[in-house]
Amino acid sequence: MRIRIEGLTKEFDGAPVLRGINFDDDVTTLAVIGPSGGGKSTLLRIVGGLIAPTGGTVEVDGEAVAYDERTLPAYRAQLGFVFQSSGLFHHLSALENVALPLRVVHGVPEDEARERAADLLSRFGLAAEEGKRPVQLSGGQQQRVAIARAVAARPKMLLLDEPTSALDPEYTNDVLDLIRDLKDSGTRFIVVTHEMGFARHACDKAAFLHDGTLLEYGASAQLFDRPTTPELQRFLSKLL
Ligand code: ADP
Ligand code: MG
Repeated sequence: MRIRIEGLTKEFDGAPVLRGINFDDDVTTLAVIGPSGGGKSTLLRIVGGLIAPTGGTVEVDGEAVAYDERTLPAYRAQLGFVFQSSGLFHHLSALENVALPLRVVHGVPEDEARERAADLLSRFGLAAEEGKRPVQLSGGQQQRVAIARAVAARPKMLLLDEPTSALDPEYTNDVLDLIRDLKDSGTRFIVVTHEMGFARHACDKAAFLHDGTLLEYGASAQLFDRPTTPELQRFLSKLL
């Protein structure tokens, strides 16, 4: 998916959060890293059409994203979203959580939606869990259901905002392994993450966002091995 961003700014109550982001690349798997408050979630939400920028443009596969409520739902429907907390419907089973948006948002007939949901859950190691409600699942299982829900409609791209940050450490790898498997089967994604091993080894490219500015962008290995800005050097050294 070709993403082209020009002069992107975002202010909240007059305070600048994104200060003129420029970007142009064919995105396969991209990690967005950087200190808290640097604007990572804001950038991801703008790219996903969840909020509008203050200024600048976003173009996806040659088409400008029009930030108006008439066209945004169709734009968003091409993408899959995963957030820190799973956001599952607590009164629905795992299977229904995956099948419902397929039916309601994408118009897939009920039988087919349930079948596709069941296939995905079993591929994600959750076959025994499909009838359980979120409260009966571990945090890691809930997050895997949320990822199943996000990929069920075969989105052009997944947008994941700190998908493992709210998990007990024991479940983090289950979720990261699942995202790796998705990559191996050709799923494209942008992930905001503090898991630096994952960013470096499972993502082709990395972007370092600092105080609303995209300070470094390039091949993950290069960014981690040869950070050029003092900000990224400092950020990485703090993690050791
Ligand atoms: P990150 O994801 O890198 O931690 P965010 O994009 O969440 O950064 O936030 C960047 C800045 O924007 C922070 O100072 C945050 O408080 C502010 N911010 C984010 N969303 C809002 C909002 N809806 N209203 C006001 N301020 C916001
Ligand atoms: Mg964030």
